[in-house]
Amino acid sequence: MPPERRENLRAARAAVLHNLTDTVFDVLVIGGGITGAGTARDAAMRGLSVALVEKEDFASGTSSRSSRLIHGGVRYLEHGQVHMVRESSRERAVLLEIAPHLVQRLRFTWPVYRGARVPRWKLALALTVYDRLAGYSKLWHHDRLDTREVLENEPALNPKDLTGGASYFDACTDDSRLTLANILSAREYGAEAANYVRAVKINPGKPNGVRVRDELTSIEFEIRARVVVDATGPWASETLTQKSRGTHIALDRKLVNNQEALTVLSPVDSRVMFILPSGNFTIIGTTDSWTSESPDDVHATAAEVEYLLRSARAYFPEHYLSRDHVTSAWAGLRPLVASGTRVSPSAISREHRITRDRSGLISVSGGKMTTYRSMAAEICDEVQRALRSGKSPSTTAAEMLAGSGRAGDLKDLARENPRLAEPLVADHPATHGEVRYAVSSELAMTIGDVLIRRTRVAFETADHGRQAAAVVAEDMAWMFGWSEKEKSDQLRRFETEVNRIFVIRPSAA
Ligand code: FAD
Repeated sequence: MPPERRENLRAARAAVLHNLTDTVFDVLVIGGGITGAGTARDAAMRGLSVALVEKEDFASGTSSRSSRLIHGGVRYLEHGQVHMVRESSRERAVLLEIAPHLVQRLRFTWPVYRGARVPRWKLALALTVYDRLAGYSKLWHHDRLDTREVLENEPALNPKDLTGGASYFDACTDDSRLTLANILSAREYGAEAANYVRAVKINPGKPNGVRVRDELTSIEFEIRARVVVDATGPWASETLTQKSRGTHIALDRKLVNNQEALTVLSPVDSRVMFILPSGNFTIIGTTDSWTSESPDDVHATAAEVEYLLRSARAYFPEHYLSRDHVTSAWAGLRPLVASGTRVSPSAISREHRITRDRSGLISVSGGKMTTYRSMAAEICDEVQRALRSGKSPSTTAAEMLAGSGRAGDLKDLARENPRLAEPLVADHPATHGEVRYAVSSELAMTIGDVLIRRTRVAFETADHGRQAAAVVAEDMAWMFGWSEKEKSDQLRRFETEVNRIFVIRPSAA
C-alpha cells in the first residue's frame, strides 16, 4: 500500500479522536450496539451534532449474538404482547424497504406433533392474528399445511406423530452489519463515531463532560455534550436492566438437512426455538435463562449445547447430531427492562423503557433488534426534549441504510487486483478484498473486527478463524503499517477474543 494511503488510515482515526475532544456535541451516545448506532443515525439525520463511543468494536456485544431475525415475534402473542408484535411487524416492513441489502424475507415452517403444547387450531389462530397485525400484507401471510405439505417443505423432518402445521414469513438479517450500516449512515450525516473508545466516567454539568479512554493507545480525554445517552445494553445499571442469556450453535447444514427456517417447540421444555438456515450452516437457538454474569465474559455452556442438540435431534433424526458436529457455539445477554426474576425470561416483554435521571442522563433498557429504529426515534425525541430545542420528526424510515454498494465495490476491487478475489482460507468464501474493504471503508481496526463482525469466518470455521487470522494479519499489517510486534500483539488479541466468545464452558461453571 502506498505510504500516503497508509498515513490516511492513521490520520482518519486521529481526526475523529481530535474532533471528539474539540467540539461540544448536542448528544453523546455511549455504546455502539444496534441501539446506540440507531440513535446516532436518527439524531444526526435530525441535524443534531452527534458523537458515539464504543469500548470495543461496533456490535461486539449482544448485537452480534442475536438470532439475526427481524420478526414480528409470533411467540409474543402467547403472552398477550399485541402492541409489541404490531410495532415489530411494522418495523419489519420498514427495514425491508430501507435495507434490502441487509434484511431478507424468510419462510418458516412450524410443524405440529401429536400432543404439542401449541396444537394446530391454536397455531392457526395465532398466525391469523399475526397476519392481521402485519396489515394482511401479501408479503407475510401464512398457510395452514397438512402433513404431506409440511414434509414437502422439510423432507428431513421426523414424520412420526406429525399432524400438520403451518408456514409463515418473517425476515432475517446480519446483525453486525445492520449495526455497522447505522454507524456508517450516522457518519454520512456528520456524526463522529469511534470504536475502541470507552466511557470511563460521566461528570454531570452543563455541558456534561465524559471521560473516555482510547483503548488502542490508553490515552484518556474528555468529550463534552449537552445530553448523554447510555445505550450500553446489558452493561447498563442493574437497577434498570436485567439480563437473560441466550445460546446458539452452528452446524453444517447438510447434517441437519433443513431446507428453510423452522419454528419448533423444544421437546425438553416446550419452549419456542428456531432452526435457521445461514448459508452453508444451520443455526439452532436459543436458550433463555436469567443471569447476573458479566457481559464481558459470556460463554455457551455444555449443558446449553446439549439442550439445543437434543431438541434438534427430535426434529431432524437423520444424523445423530452430537457435540462433535458443532462448528461453533456462542452466547449473548438480552438486556431486558428490570421487572423481577420470578417469571421465566421468555415471558418478559421485549419492550423498552427510556428514562432521564436528575443529571439529565438518558438511559435505555430492553428492546429488540427488530424495533431498534422506532426505539431510536423515541430516544431522540427525549434528547430533543432535554435540549429544549424543539422537536423535529425522525426521518430514518425514509432513507436507505448505508452499505448497499458493498458487493459492487468488492467486485471493482477484484477487477483492479485479482488477488483480492482470492479466499483467505480454503474452507470459507471470505476474500482478501473483504479485508481491504473492512479496513478502508468499514472502520475495522483489529483482526477480530474483520473475522468476527465484518465477515462470519470465526463463526463458520472449525478453528474459529485462527488459520485465516495469520493471513489477515499480513493484509492488515501492510495496510496499517504494523511492525512485527504490533502484528503479534494483534494475533494475541484475536486469540483472546475468540476464546472469550467461542469456548464452551463445562456445565458446572
Ligand atoms: P449491545 O449490542 O450489547 O450494545 C451495547 C454496547 O455498549 C456494547 O457494544 C458494549 O461494548 C458497549 N459499551 C458498554 N459499556 C461501554 C462503555 N463504558 N463505553 C463505551 N461502550 C460501552 N432481537 C431481535 O429483534 N431478533 C432476534 O432474532 C434476536 N435474537 C436474540 C437472541 C439472543 C440470544 C439475544 C441475547 C438477543 C436477541 N435479540 C433479538 C435482542 C437483540 O439482539 C438486542 O435487543 C440488541 O442487540 C441489544 O442491542 P444494544 O445496542 O442495546 O446492546
